[in-house]
Amino acid sequence: MDKIPPALIKPEIRYTKLFINNEWVDSKDGSTFATYNPSTEEKNADVAEGKEADIDAAVQAAKAAFLPGAAWRKMDASYRGVLLNRFADLIKRDAQYIASLECFDNGKLYDSLLKFDVPYSISIIRYFAGWADKYHGKTIPFDGDYFCYTKHEPVGICGAILPWNVPIIMFTMKFAPCVAMGNVLIVKPSENTPLSALYLASLAKEAGFPPGVLNVVPGFGKTAGHALSHHMEVDKISFTGSGVTGRLIQKASADSNLKRVSLELGGKSPNIVFSDVDIDEAVSLASNAMFVHNGQTCLAGSRTFVHEDIYEEFVKKSVQKAKSLKIGEPEDVSTEIGPLISKIQEDRVLGLLKSGVEEGAKVMCGGKKMEGKKGFYIEPTVLTGLCDDMKVSKEEIFGPVQQIYKFKDVNEVIERANNTRYGLVAGVITNDVNKVMAISNALRAGTVWVNCYFVLSPGNPFGGFKESGIGRENGEYVLSQYTEVKTVIMKIPGSGAQV
Ligand code: NAD
Ligand code: MN
Repeated sequence: MDKIPPALIKPEIRYTKLFINNEWVDSKDGSTFATYNPSTEEKNADVAEGKEADIDAAVQAAKAAFLPGAAWRKMDASYRGVLLNRFADLIKRDAQYIASLECFDNGKLYDSLLKFDVPYSISIIRYFAGWADKYHGKTIPFDGDYFCYTKHEPVGICGAILPWNVPIIMFTMKFAPCVAMGNVLIVKPSENTPLSALYLASLAKEAGFPPGVLNVVPGFGKTAGHALSHHMEVDKISFTGSGVTGRLIQKASADSNLKRVSLELGGKSPNIVFSDVDIDEAVSLASNAMFVHNGQTCLAGSRTFVHEDIYEEFVKKSVQKAKSLKIGEPEDVSTEIGPLISKIQEDRVLGLLKSGVEEGAKVMCGGKKMEGKKGFYIEPTVLTGLCDDMKVSKEEIFGPVQQIYKFKDVNEVIERANNTRYGLVAGVITNDVNKVMAISNALRAGTVWVNCYFVLSPGNPFGGFKESGIGRENGEYVLSQYTEVKTVIMKIPGSGAQV
């Protein structure tokens, strides 16, 4: 394997202003907010804080870029693909810096940023660069002398409201299909992690995207996010984050201009382990499904269901595995567990753990904040003795907490796995193809992983059933969410006849 370049310690922060119309500007009222390094609790930077007036300025820039006759509207679709590929090249050029910056601001492991988040984001951009001139309409057979065809046109002014957990991937997953289809975009990154979006904006400018096509306005949800989701001239919002906020976004659409809304809202995903498998491999797979990025992923396989025949051994080995995970600084490539994003999130996770214990769950390892260490560190935790109706079994924890449940048979585990308001992903580990079919058909989840987990490619659609969201991202499926179908019907004598 290639040797990876080490993380830059305290990477230089180059951009802290709002990015509007390809320019760096202060917020209109001059306000700023601080962003922190979660492993040291030290301030990284003060960033311009966008509010309603700044969101409106970004919308006006986007609107001008989208006017008929503007450079962006006259650009060949294939050239949008060229710009996206250039953007991908620039991210590749600056991969070490971008991974370091995100590690610094988010606390995500540098190693995983460099080996997964950055290359996966590049592959998403290249994938949608390819789509830029390929998402075409149809000709429709029509009775009479009429010629009918459809065109896939951009929706218009789009807003992306991002979470903090995987900011680079979130940015590219929304930006790439959005501009590939010819839309213009305002990104509101999370207040916890504004820095990478600002840097990516500088690269989009360098790649040659015209002014106004991409705007990045950091700020808080209640102000900047609220303004974007209520704006009368924004045609679509793509949101990833909590269900509480997702509902507000949906409501904002109803209260304003019925803008299109797509939502990706997390999960409480089951990972089902049968007894016919290699236990060590299954333990490792299930542990990884849970503890990647400290459990701070909407995909986390947080409910591990294990067949009763192997349950005791599986729990024992899972505890050993959790205890063996190396806790440390996120920039150190040997670290497996870094800090949580914030004090708020740390308190939330500890609160949920407390409620679990109060309801009778057993802490097999971990279960508390790391002592004597700066930063928001919680020890990797394994819970057993759980009932399906405990609060910890129902709510997304978004922290390093694996929950192991015992089951007897296929029908029982299907019912229990589906007994959740979420439906994002699910995993099943078995060599029995009949069980695989029964389970993958019956699970109410947007993605089912069989004998693997966290395997993603830009081409596979991603999103949730039930309260995990509305719509799909990635793959061909997302393109319909960034386009309007226009039907054109022309009266042309002779056009209907079968010659
Ligand atoms: P959140 O929903 O509060 O924030 C997500 C984004 O929405 C942020 O950019 C935020 O500023 C914005 N926002 C907040 N309130 C808003 C409002 N009223 N109007 C418009 N935008 C608003 O989520 P969070 O605080 O980042 O995390 C809280 C929980 O959300 C986590 O504990 C986790 O359960 C879940 N989460 C899920 C995902 C996911 O990938 N599905 C990612 C991050 C967090
Ligand atoms: Mn930060």
